[in-house]
Order: sequence, then structure tokens, then C-alpha cells
Amino acid sequence: MIHPKGLYTLFFTELWERFSYYGMRAILVLFMVTPVTQGGLGFDIKSATALYGTYTMSVYFTSLPGGFIADKFLGARYSVLIGGIIIACGHFTMIFHSIEFFYVGLILISVGTGLLKPNISTMVGSLYEKNDARRDSGFSVFYMGINIGAVLAPLVCGYLAQSESFKQFLISNGINPISCWHFGFGAAGVGMIFGLIVYILKQNNFPEIKRSSDKSQTNQKEQLTSDEWKKTGAIFIFFLFTMLFWAAYEQKGASLNLFALKLVETKIFNWEFPSSWLQSLTAFFVIGLSPIFSKLWMRLGEKQPSSPAKFSIGLLFIGLAYALMVPAASFTALGKISPLWLVGLYFLEVVGEMCLSPVGLSTVTKLAPQKLLGIMMGVWFLASAIGNKFAGFLGGFFIAEDPSQLMMLYGGISIGLLVASLVLTLLIPKIKKLMGEVK
Ligand code: GLN
Repeated sequence: MIHPKGLYTLFFTELWERFSYYGMRAILVLFMVTPVTQGGLGFDIKSATALYGTYTMSVYFTSLPGGFIADKFLGARYSVLIGGIIIACGHFTMIFHSIEFFYVGLILISVGTGLLKPNISTMVGSLYEKNDARRDSGFSVFYMGINIGAVLAPLVCGYLAQSESFKQFLISNGINPISCWHFGFGAAGVGMIFGLIVYILKQNNFPEIKRSSDKSQTNQKEQLTSDEWKKTGAIFIFFLFTMLFWAAYEQKGASLNLFALKLVETKIFNWEFPSSWLQSLTAFFVIGLSPIFSKLWMRLGEKQPSSPAKFSIGLLFIGLAYALMVPAASFTALGKISPLWLVGLYFLEVVGEMCLSPVGLSTVTKLAPQKLLGIMMGVWFLASAIGNKFAGFLGGFFIAEDPSQLMMLYGGISIGLLVASLVLTLLIPKIKKLMGEVK
């Protein structure tokens, strides 16, 4: 089945935006903890991770005002454009080695992402009629773009910021090698410029989403109808369960990052690789699984599970993923374990992600009242913001030297998510009622 042309424009714009986000994020903490003499900021680990947590939360939190601004004033199309420009300014600000520029850069990227991220997602939804069977499939394709950016960026920005060969290249060109970090940040910014170029050149490929102030909407009542209230209620139920999903999932950047560093054998055929490379696995699996899920939803057509059923399958899989970490944690008592445990965990997690994250984007665009589309997408990303912060909190229970504590941590997460999946399954009939004609 063929997707609207606009999907591919949004796919490439978001690919490059995520390239800039994940590229910068991959080297952010490393830059903060690197001593000043080596070009970093010389922060201690606690301050660096706290700032990192606040930054990742802010990036998603700003989706709420970003969606509101699109609904009320700018419209989605201009919000994405202005957001992209602000993000690029943020990355380029970080080319300069100064703490003030560093903070201004982080603020600009958060503000810009707030304008871009929720609104580009609503634009994908606007390409399809409400019950178009291609919609979930379209969001799976869009989600693949996100993850192509997420796989490539850490490799490129990480190479510029950390590799010896790039430092040598700088020296041979008469440039101080400790400025390598800023080349990494600059490369992230170049990604956003590519995204903007694609977006500006191809912006006629999609319809504008109406703002609540548009003339055609003025004869609509400002207040929500009871049907709209019910659908908004369904979004809030999804919001609560999604928060739990991300709190578990984002252990990747929190406790699982430390787990990989301290407890996993990071060697293949005697070749030692950086533990942080394991972070690319999720995006890699998303790319592999997206076409499969996209086809699956298309093939099932009308027979595909409802969105709440897909959500509970998502929670089930992430619950199973963490169940795998219980024996893995117990084996750490005997020494470092195989990276295959994390490969298995991330694979199951991504199966869950495919049932929940792109489906969630799609469902929000179907359920949200037209006049609140942007802000409801902001609510969806608010679940990511809170989930990220909660993930950091749970990660605080990580003690590498205590396998039984680790078993409790991951076993607890697993049980929590499995129970959440069960509760959501029981709520499916109620949620379906709230969703009305939306599947
Ligand atoms: N990985 C997806 C992205 O980067 C979803 C992130 C999220 O909602 N927490 O867009």
C-alpha cells in the first residue's frame, strides 16, 4: 500500500532532528565529566547526570507549551520550521567553549524540540483520515526514520568527540585537539540543517493543520463535547501506562548503561568495544522490526488488535524483557556476563516499543479534539518526560556489587510492568467505550 508523499518529507526531517538530538546526547555526559584540561567541563558525575536528567526531561516537557503554541498561534507547519531553526541555533551555540554558551545551547534545544517534536507528529497524523488503515503503518515508517537518526548519530558524533584518529587529524590541521567535543556538537547541528532543508524544499507535500484561531473553526464551540471529553479521558489513561513504559525503557541510559560498563563482557572475538555502543541496539532493532510491524498492521487491516490491546502487548513485552534481567543479574555474582543478555533484553523491549510508541503517536492524533491536537501530543510526550525522570530515580538503586539488589531492581520493574499490562488488559472494554468509533 502506498503512503502519502508528505510522510517521506516528515520522515527525513525527523530523521535529521533525531540525529541531532541523539548525537549530542551521546556525548553530553562524557563532555561534562571530562576534565577542563582535556576540553570538557570538569563536572562531577552526580552533577553531570543530574543535569543530563533534567535536560532530557525538559526536552520532552516543552512539548506541552510547544503543542499549545501550535494549536493557538503558529499552526503545526510553522512551529516545526521555527523549532528546527531554534534547535540548530542551540547546537551551533555549543560549538563555542564557554559554560554560558553551553547552558544557552541546552535551553535552545529544549525549546526548539518542544516546538518541533509534538507538531511534526501531529502532521504525520494529518496525512490520513481518522480510520485510514494505513495510519499505524505510516507511524511505523515515521518511527523508523527516528531510529535511523538514533543509530547513526552516536557513531558520527561519538567518533568526532572521542576518537584518537580525529584528534590526530585536528593536530595535522593546526587545530587544538581538545576542541574535538565541539566538532561533535557541530555535527549534530549540521544534522538539523539537513532536516530543515528537506522540510523547506518539500513543504507543499502536506496539508496545514487548522489552528483553534482559524476562521473555519470560529463557529465551533470552544468547549469540548462529551464525546471529545471521553476521548481525552482515553488519552490520559494511555498517558499513565506510557509513563511506566518509559520509566522502564529509559533504564537504557540510566542503570543499564552502568550495568553494561561494569558487569558485561564488552568483547567480540577478542575485539573490545565501548560499552556505550550497546545503546545503539534499541534503535537498530527498531529499524529491523519497523517494516515487519508496518506490514503486519497493514496485512491485518481491520483485524488488527485495538490500540489499547497493542499497548498492553507493549507492556507485556517490556515486562518480559526485565524478567530476563533477573537471571542475568544473578549470574553477575560469578563475574562479567555475556552482552547477549542485553541483546535479548533490548530485543524484547523493542518488540514492546513497536506496539506502544508509534501506535501511541497514531492513537493520540485520532483521539485528540482537533482544536487541542498539539497540546494532546504534548501530553503524550509529557509521559516521556516524567518517565525519563522516574527512570533516573529507579537507576539510583543500581549497586553493581550486589547481585541480589540488582535482581530486586529488575524483578521489581518486570513485575510492575506485567501487572500494568494485566490491568490495562482488563480496562480494554472500558477504554474502547471511551474511544467511540476510533479503533
Ligand atoms: N525513541 C522515540 C523518539 O526519539 C520515542 C522517545 C520517547 O517518546 N520517549 O522519538
